[in-house]
Amino acid sequence: MARQVDLVIVGAGPAGLMAAAWAAFYNLKTVVLDKRPSKIEKGHADGLQSRTLEILHSFGFGDQIYREANRLQEVCFWVLHLLRATPRLLITDDFQNPDNNGVIRRTDRIPDTILGISRFQQSVLHQGRIEDYFLEFIDRTSKNVHIQRSTEPFGMHIDETLVEAADDWPITVRTRSTQDGLTNGVPSNKDDLIQCKYLIGCDGAHSWVRGQMGLVMEGEQTESVWGVMDVIPVTNFPDIRMRCVIHSASSGSIMVIPRERGLVRLYIQLASIQPGAGHRYDRAKGSPEMIFEAAQRIMRPWEIRYDYCEWWTIYQIGQRLGNGYGAHDRIFLAGDAVHTHSPKAGQGMNVSIQDTYNLGWKIGSVLTGTARRSILSTYESERRPIAKQLIDFDRKFSRMFSGRPAKDIADEAGISMTEFKSTFEKGNIFTSGTSVEYAESQVVSSSSGKILRPGVRFPSFQVVCQCDATPVQLADALKSDGIWRLVVFCGDLTQDATNQRLKTLGKGLEDAISALNKPVVEPILVHASSRDNVELADVPAPFYYRSNSNERDYYRVFADDWSYHHGHGHAYGGYDVDRNQGLAVLVRPDQYIAWAGDIDDTGAMEEFLDGCLL
Ligand code: FAD
Repeated sequence: MARQVDLVIVGAGPAGLMAAAWAAFYNLKTVVLDKRPSKIEKGHADGLQSRTLEILHSFGFGDQIYREANRLQEVCFWVLHLLRATPRLLITDDFQNPDNNGVIRRTDRIPDTILGISRFQQSVLHQGRIEDYFLEFIDRTSKNVHIQRSTEPFGMHIDETLVEAADDWPITVRTRSTQDGLTNGVPSNKDDLIQCKYLIGCDGAHSWVRGQMGLVMEGEQTESVWGVMDVIPVTNFPDIRMRCVIHSASSGSIMVIPRERGLVRLYIQLASIQPGAGHRYDRAKGSPEMIFEAAQRIMRPWEIRYDYCEWWTIYQIGQRLGNGYGAHDRIFLAGDAVHTHSPKAGQGMNVSIQDTYNLGWKIGSVLTGTARRSILSTYESERRPIAKQLIDFDRKFSRMFSGRPAKDIADEAGISMTEFKSTFEKGNIFTSGTSVEYAESQVVSSSSGKILRPGVRFPSFQVVCQCDATPVQLADALKSDGIWRLVVFCGDLTQDATNQRLKTLGKGLEDAISALNKPVVEPILVHASSRDNVELADVPAPFYYRSNSNERDYYRVFADDWSYHHGHGHAYGGYDVDRNQGLAVLVRPDQYIAWAGDIDDTGAMEEFLDGCLL
């Protein structure tokens, strides 16, 4: 007899756990299968980008992660300098520089996170700890999400006649324990049968789910081989607690990432290993000693050794993208299962989390009957272009990392360090995840060019709560809880025209049959008057009564005004909203703007929502 559940997630890595977090929020009956007996304890990803931290914060545990992580402040560039260009350097007899012609020197410093793009700066914390936070969230949010370890699927069938049926279970998955062996190719333990409505393959780069759907990864494998080590270093290198990019003359490059608990991650190019075009380097031939010797060569004359190594691995750079993201809008692929690239830009875990952050609320709203099933196709149309951009960026970024620095401007085979720095700086905006912009679709209306435009994530500025004078970041009112928000910047409430527009909107919000009056749509007001000149009763009731209830909500009316201890947030200026005109913005449950327009254009708002919601 098969178990029947709403959702099966294959893989409990970052992508799978983000999907499970949404499932917990929507209280979906969910099984998460992972073939490993436990979560990873060391190594793998550690970079958390600004947008990922914003997302984790919207689930309520980003703050703790941010406190525990090491926040990266500055990037230092170290590049080979030829001796003739650096006569002031003191060179001793036993000095061995990378090619006997020069030494590495710090040439530049830039902020690690572009100023002003987010309240969270890029930080690093071990992937296993981030998974801990997800697991705690899932456990305390729902008893319907079960993480079943030491289990893998070994058969999957989709009944195509049922894929459009709302209340059926079109997918059947056969699972087995990974702790028991096979007898004559047949699992020796009793296997289990699960029927589900939706399935997400978050099973990593060698995805079994992808294979079952006949989808493949397309792309290239380069010849560039790198080692990674998490060590507590002993060194006289001055910037070991900075993020550094070090280009030696011909021994290769290093990226230094200072981590939590005194650890430092070193990405070390193994320039002497050349597997040859189309060949894979046999990682079994590598060792931490061999990787570290390469690091010592690159960093000379600075000395470095270590007493403790927590984790190491070797990888060969390749960039690959899946030729499809799922089937029938019932089975989906996310994370490494559909895109792989080099880890140096710190993107893998982030983009994987962001994939299922995009998908999870869509599946949750469809399964709980609040959204149309057709919105599910926007998962691939929104996330695949991001993966494509990432792969293109990574190809360029990796090539610049792995190439040797140009000796002078005539050295065309070398990498220009000026170009490298510029690529790095521009790349920082992309890698922060804050510049993602989704194209027009069923869940994004056509776009016009202001800061608050459809397709981008809602940025945050400080406003002041009308009812208790507390300064808050406006994005904190947009929690990841499955609710759409209508954020209304009405302007100055002491002006008649503003009040008139707001009254028209208020009528729309109270209209019993309007899409604006659904429990999944919550209005928020940000006025531009002095808090002193406004009372709660001056604004339409839907801004301070809970939907269809007599219960008051005191935390949805805000002023763009002074606070006692944290100054003025100047939110209207930051959002570029005209105080005389105002602006209404519909924000999706994942904090991306779906629609923007006039505050009294309730017809357009309703028409848009009717296209997405049931
Ligand atoms: P994974 O983390 O690979 O998780 C897949 C899960 O599925 C695993 O738990 C696995 O056990 C399970 N699974 C696989 N097959 C099956 C099956 N058949 N049945 C059941 N379960 C299965 N990313 C960053 O963002 N920043 C970094 O700094 C960074 N550094 C990295 C350094 C290294 C050395 C490596 C190897 C990776 C790094 N990454 C980094 C990449 C990052 O680890 C991955 O991109 C990220 O973990 C992908 O998440 P995921 O959930 O898609 O897949």
